[in-house]
Parts: sequence; structure tokens; C-alpha cells
Amino acid sequence: MYKKRGILIGLIILLFSFACITQEVYAAVTPSFGARNLKTGMRGGDVQDLQKALNYLGYPTETDGIFGPSTKYALMQFQKSVSLQADGIGGAATFRALNDILEGCWYEVKPGDNLSSLAKTYRTSVQGIMATNGLTRTTIKAGEKLLLTIGSEFNRAYIVQRGDNLSVLAKRFGVSLEKLLDVNSIEDPEYLCIGQQLLIPQSLPSRYNLGSQDESLVIIWPVTSRRITSGYGWRPHPIGGNRQFHGGIDIGVSTGTSVYAAAAGRVKSVGRGWQNGYGNNIVLDHGRGITTWYGHLSEILVKEGQWVTQGQQIAKSGNTGMSTGPHLDFRIKIGDDTIDPLKWLP
Ligand SMILES: [Zn+2]
Repeated sequence: MYKKRGILIGLIILLFSFACITQEVYAAVTPSFGARNLKTGMRGGDVQDLQKALNYLGYPTETDGIFGPSTKYALMQFQKSVSLQADGIGGAATFRALNDILEGCWYEVKPGDNLSSLAKTYRTSVQGIMATNGLTRTTIKAGEKLLLTIGSEFNRAYIVQRGDNLSVLAKRFGVSLEKLLDVNSIEDPEYLCIGQQLLIPQSLPSRYNLGSQDESLVIIWPVTSRRITSGYGWRPHPIGGNRQFHGGIDIGVSTGTSVYAAAAGRVKSVGRGWQNGYGNNIVLDHGRGITTWYGHLSEILVKEGQWVTQGQQIAKSGNTGMSTGPHLDFRIKIGDDTIDPLKWLP
């Protein structure tokens, strides 16, 4: 009898302590970084949380838990934005800045959670959660930390810099001033602090202002040649003669010429063979819906999923697919829409 009661009391205590522990965890989820300085070459959960934080703030990097060149670059961009020394090393001051900005945004995944259920709870989309956390897969596991804010349908965080004003920012990010004020619950547009976090409504990549370049992405020429043999837009098809829309530019180069990544990013896909006439090709993903395309290649030097830096050689040009002579077909897409690369190329 006593034994049974003992077990019962024990169970009740156990239940209560569980309840308290869970409560505490939900009250304040903190990222795992902070215990040690983080720099190039390091690995771990703290590196991964740092990468998620950078992605969330609009500095895209992989989230593989390995501190590589793209993580260093993203971290330096963040450090610059908050006027810290841009050394690309995660130290106390950097972590303090990140924690100040992201306080209350971390969520620890519970058993049974999935991206759709979280998207519903947070009134956002699976795509939005994946984009802001830099996730490449749709599965999440218990204990994993994610950055979530209610209604963050592709909202991107932006840290206010010296000299910023809201109408210029609205124009720059292609949103209306009213929407910007509304999303950030700002009543007086004059009131803006340096270092303040703003949410920039992004919704879908097609909402990008197609006319002007995204200021955070600088594109360089993928080959040293500037000889355009066929421009962007409507043209008679080179083989067959019917009018066709050309979604890229053809740059005349002999087979075997080095092809460089126009911007840092991740290899989204590589295609070999005919490929609907595009021939051997590479697609690089630069984040926020922007991709660059390289067609008719003779040799591909990267593999899918790999990160590349701007100017890194990724291929050799060629004459594969439907092509009347050796050239590189270079394209820039925002979502599914092509833009004239000459508008972005320096
Ligand atoms: Zn072409």
C-alpha cells in the first residue's frame, strides 16, 4: 500500500517537473552559439545555428554546420551592417548583436512538429520557413532550432543603416511605403533608428523589381569575352528561322574557354546531354529566387549542391545542345522570369 502510494507521488512529481522543464524551454529558446568563438573550418550545432541566423537576416549561406567561405562572407556582411569589425569571426560582440536582434525568434522543434504544422501555427508558408532558415530539405527533427516569426511570409529582416530612410528602402526593395509601415507597425515614417530591425515583405520572387539590380547581389561576367553574338529578347531562331524569345545572351567564345560563377551561390543543378537544346549546363542559386544559367558547355567542373564563390571556374564553354557554333548562353532568372543579363552585368 505504502509502496503504491510512493510510486504514485513519484509519478506526480515526475509529471510536474516535466511540465516545468517544458515551460522553461518554450519561454526562452536560445541558439547554441556563444560558448566559443566560431571561425573558418569549425563544425557543429553552434555553427549551424549561426548559419540559420545569418540566413534569417538576409545573408544567405549553407546550413550544414560547417564554417566555410560562404559562412564567413555572410558573417562579414552582417558584421558590417551592425558596424562591427568585419573579421568573419563569430565572437562575443557579434553574438550579442545577433541575440539582441533575434531574441524571441528562436523555436525548438518538438517531436511531432513538421514544417506544414509550424507554417500553420506561425501563419507563414513552408517555403517561407525554408527560405529564412536556409533549409534545403523539408524534414526537421526534434531539438533542432529554427527562426520563426508570426506571419513572416517571406519577410526578410533588414538592419537600418546610417542614412536610410523608409521611402528609399521601400523603393529599393520594390514594396510600397504603406506596406512597409504596416508590416513593421510604424506610425511615424520619420522615426527610424540605426541598427533597428525592419521586416521587408518579399512574398514571392516575382515581386522583385525586374528593372533594377538587387543591390545585395553583384553579378560579374562569366567569361572574359564581351562579344555578344545574340542578345536577349525576340529573334529569328538560329536554326529554323521562326521568331523565338531568347531568354539569355550568347557570348562568343571558343570551346574550352573558362566559365566563371557570376556570383557566389550553390550549384542548383547540372545537366548533361541535349537538355532541350541547352546542352551541358549549370544552374547556380544565389538565394532569394535568383539563379544564373550557363549553357552549351563542353565540360562541367562542379557538382550539384556544391557552393561556389564569385569568379570561381565552374565549367569550360562548348557547343553542346542546339548550337550553331561555340558560345556560352548565359541567363539570369528571378523565380521563373528571365531578365536581360546586360542590365545587371557591369
Ligand atoms: Zn543562347
